[in-house]
Amino acid sequence: MTLQRALLSVSDKTGLIELAQALHRLHIELLSTGGTAQVLRDAKIPVREVSNFTGFPEMLDGRVKTLHPKIHGGLLGNRDIPSHQEAMTRHGIDPIDLVVVNLYPFRETIAQPGVTLEEAIENIDIGGPAMVRSAAKNHAHVAVLTDPADYPRLLQELEKNRGSISAATRFDLAVKAFSHTAEYDGAIATYLSGLNTESQADGYPERLHLSFVKHQSLRYGENPHQGAAFYRDPAAPSGVLSHYRQLQGKPLSYNNIADADTAWDCVRFLDAPACVIVKHANPCGVALGNQALDAYQRAYATDPTSAYGGIIAFNRTVDEATVEALQRQFVEVLIAPEFTSAALERLSQKANVRVLQLPDDKGLNRWDMKRVGGGLLVQTSDSGGLNEDALKVVTQAAPTEEQWTDLRLAFHVAHYVKSNAVVFCGQGRTLGIGAGQMSRVDSTRIAQRKAEDAGLSLQGSVAASDAFFPFRDGLDVLARAGALAIIQPGGSLRDGEVIAAADEQGVAMVLTGIRHFRH
Ligand code: 5GP
Repeated sequence: MTLQRALLSVSDKTGLIELAQALHRLHIELLSTGGTAQVLRDAKIPVREVSNFTGFPEMLDGRVKTLHPKIHGGLLGNRDIPSHQEAMTRHGIDPIDLVVVNLYPFRETIAQPGVTLEEAIENIDIGGPAMVRSAAKNHAHVAVLTDPADYPRLLQELEKNRGSISAATRFDLAVKAFSHTAEYDGAIATYLSGLNTESQADGYPERLHLSFVKHQSLRYGENPHQGAAFYRDPAAPSGVLSHYRQLQGKPLSYNNIADADTAWDCVRFLDAPACVIVKHANPCGVALGNQALDAYQRAYATDPTSAYGGIIAFNRTVDEATVEALQRQFVEVLIAPEFTSAALERLSQKANVRVLQLPDDKGLNRWDMKRVGGGLLVQTSDSGGLNEDALKVVTQAAPTEEQWTDLRLAFHVAHYVKSNAVVFCGQGRTLGIGAGQMSRVDSTRIAQRKAEDAGLSLQGSVAASDAFFPFRDGLDVLARAGALAIIQPGGSLRDGEVIAAADEQGVAMVLTGIRHFRH
């Protein structure tokens, strides 16, 4: 199919001039709408206005520009059906072989703070999606470009094939075009239904139109018999895992990505230099330090056995000395906001280690989602930060300053540990972590045993519990293990009993008012 006529109507003018120049060189006639035609004329590229082609002016503030049988007939007419050909000839409809359209910036508009409904509505493109869909439906004869990133590839093909485009490329572009309009309409429906407060006072849209873009294929899923891929949210805020840049190493696996997410989120919300080591979705060692190196040494010491094959994240620059210290263990993934060049040089000798760099920002996904049979559970992200105003010391004893630092660290770590979570800390590091048990008492026993195994004393430690103590027994186990200060959400019917038990044993207790279940 040799192209004779192209229609260009784009809001995002990226790459437009180069594309139009190349099409013109290939003797393809260019039709265009007002703003786009102006850009082409300014670049001295011959162009015919759509209004001249249809014999109708653009009207109603641009709401009607290309919605005309001469445009849609030219796009939709099947060149292989004689009756279509006849009708086109009878009505003077010239075929259009290529459409280059991208749509009014609806998503960008609604992302602006304080946008009004009128502004949003004006940015709902009508004629653009209509042309995209007409061309995509008739991809047997028409090509459609909706993404400036595809311009170079199309031009290459046109130049190679002397002005024609293969059926395979047209099909590929049509699939992309329908995804483009589906996402566009999805964004509109989600936005409008979010405003429909009468029908859903909870602020969640009646229908959720999610759109994620495939980022990479994965060798397999959680287990080798499961297939998998990683999709990214194009609107993800800065700092979340999907913005990673891999500097070296083997491709990431499904489990690597899931664990890296936990490790990175746990470390990036700590203010002091810190290191987090994650194994099987749980932190197995977390420590603050003066810099990356001593934070790592202390995090590792919590549980050297589990740290083997861990995902290790830092919130500060990783230097050569830190990489040197990492040599003692097998590392699956290493994450940090920066690496010195000497550190990268040293890492390159361990070519398999996956090294990820991430911007040290505090953005959060708007929603957290969990698939269940036949549905999706949606909730706001657990932002995690302690509400300083809500913190309450409820015992006769109050924590010392040093204990306050450890209590904050312990509660922060508990947030990233699967429930029931119990975390012992001391001197700015974890001493024992109990995760994922059905009873809080069992999690405590495990945390205690792990500390013993690692040769760490819990005498004079502090402890955090991700949720309240339903009975005093959980608290008794912590106190007997050696904890002198405890942080927990509070809110149990038996808070009084639990506080009395703490007072009995001279333990200080802080209530946070925030629970951090993590399942
Ligand atoms: P221009 O900057 O060329 O004046 O306008 C380009 C934009 O107009 C493109 O985003 C295209 O999707 C959109 N567009 C083209 N035809 C129509 C139409 O008939 N109605 C509306 N609302 N938008 C159109």
